[in-house]
Amino acid sequence: MPVIKLVKGDITQQQVDAVVNAANSSLMGGGGVDGAIHKAGGPAILEACKQIIAQIGHLPTGEAVVTTAGHMPAKKVIHTVGPIYNATRPDEMRNLLANAYRNSLQQAVAHNLRTIAFPNISTGVYGYPKEEAAQVAISTVRQFLQAHPDEIDEVRFVCFDEDNYRIYHTLLSSEEVNL
Ligand code: ADP
Repeated sequence: MPVIKLVKGDITQQQVDAVVNAANSSLMGGGGVDGAIHKAGGPAILEACKQIIAQIGHLPTGEAVVTTAGHMPAKKVIHTVGPIYNATRPDEMRNLLANAYRNSLQQAVAHNLRTIAFPNISTGVYGYPKEEAAQVAISTVRQFLQAHPDEIDEVRFVCFDEDNYRIYHTLLSSEEVNL
C-alpha cells in the first residue's frame, strides 16, 4: 500500500519522482511555490512550459501537465492550476481543487512517477481557506490511492508555512500515515 507522508519545508529540495507545482493557467511562472520551482529548476522548465502552451493555449483550472524538473533533485514537475478562491461558490471550489490533486496523480501514474510531493495548492495568493483546502487535498489523495494501490508508492504533503503544517498534522495523525 502507498504511504502518505507529511513534511515541513521547501518542495524544491524534495527527492521524489515528481514535485507538483501550483501554477497559473499561463504556465509562465509567478510568485510563491511557482517562482521557487522555476528558480530552483532553471530555464529548462519555462522552455518546456512554453512548448506546452504553444499547443494548448492555456492550462485550465484543475488540469495538470508534466515537464522536466531541470536542476531539482526531482525527476519531473507536474504543473496544475488550483482555483482562485470564491466564497460564493464553495461546491465548485471543492471540485476544482479536488480535480487539481486527482489530475496531478493521474499524470503521475501515466508517466510512471511513483513518489509525488504536493504543495498546499491554492492556499497562498489564491486564497483558499487552509483547513478546507487540506480536507479536500487529503480526502482526494486517499481516494485516489485506494483506487490505485499498486501505481504510487508515496504521496508527500510538503507544508511551507506553520499554519498548514499544523492543520495537516492534526488531520493526518488520526490516519495510518508516516509522520
Ligand atoms: P496559489 O496561487 O496556488 O495559492 P502559492 O504559491 O501562492 O500558490 O501558495 C501555495 C502554497 O505554497 C502556500 O501554502 C505557500 O505557503 C506554499 N509555498 C510557497 N513556497 C513554497 C515552497 N518553496 N515549497 C513548498 N511550498 C511553498
